[in-house]
Amino acid sequence: MVKEAVHTRAQQLWIKEVNSQPSLRTYRLINTQLQLQLQDYLCQPELSKDDVRGRIQMTKLRVGNNNLKISQGRISRTPIEHRLCVNCDNLMDEVEDEQHVLQKCSVFKDQRQVLFRQVSNVSQGAIDLCVFSDASVLCLLLGVWPKEVQDGLDHRPRSSRNMAKKDIKRQVMRQVKWFVGRVMRRHRVLDEQMKQRRVEVVFVGFDSHPHLSRLLLQVALVPVAQLSVDEELMLMMGSQQ
Ligand SMILES: [Zn+2]
Repeated sequence: MVKEAVHTRAQQLWIKEVNSQPSLRTYRLINTQLQLQLQDYLCQPELSKDDVRGRIQMTKLRVGNNNLKISQGRISRTPIEHRLCVNCDNLMDEVEDEQHVLQKCSVFKDQRQVLFRQVSNVSQGAIDLCVFSDASVLCLLLGVWPKEVQDGLDHRPRSSRNMAKKDIKRQVMRQVKWFVGRVMRRHRVLDEQMKQRRVEVVFVGFDSHPHLSRLLLQVALVPVAQLSVDEELMLMMGSQQ
């Protein structure tokens, strides 16, 4: 009885804390029913360095402690609309948050394709990530089993019923950890390369070039490798003033 009351009180305080933290935005998104309990993805035996690396990165993404622009901008107090991804091939005006990096960013397209194929393979066709909603896939990529995917597993084809559900889940989560670990490692490398390539500029006279202005406003530092010849020329002119 006392133990139950203590747990309830602890849970209430924890929920209040979770709801008050901006950095836990993604955590609230994937855990719609906040429960103070050990999460599945933390309980699996980890057989390789990839598993461990992936688990650590998943945790960092879940709690907003990572090197994505959305998290770094919180520290530097950059407005959200300026925390944009600078890695995409087509420089989309997209905030670099967990969802963008894991599900949309073109730089990680190859890793994503491998993940989708591997998840289908290890689940013997029971889980096809292409058919689930973006929200469900995001949950799975961050270690939460969404109802939609659980239902898919419960009603999986006969051909994949020779494998126990818990074994499929374990295999799938290993693939997800591999993916998240690989993506975040590549992201860190790109981040480092970007810092080395950046050229400081003086922000003047770019009003008629909103695309470049956006980049400059974002960080006041521009990744030269992503600029067109014209933009690079303008940048050089700007930097000389
Ligand atoms: Zn991107």
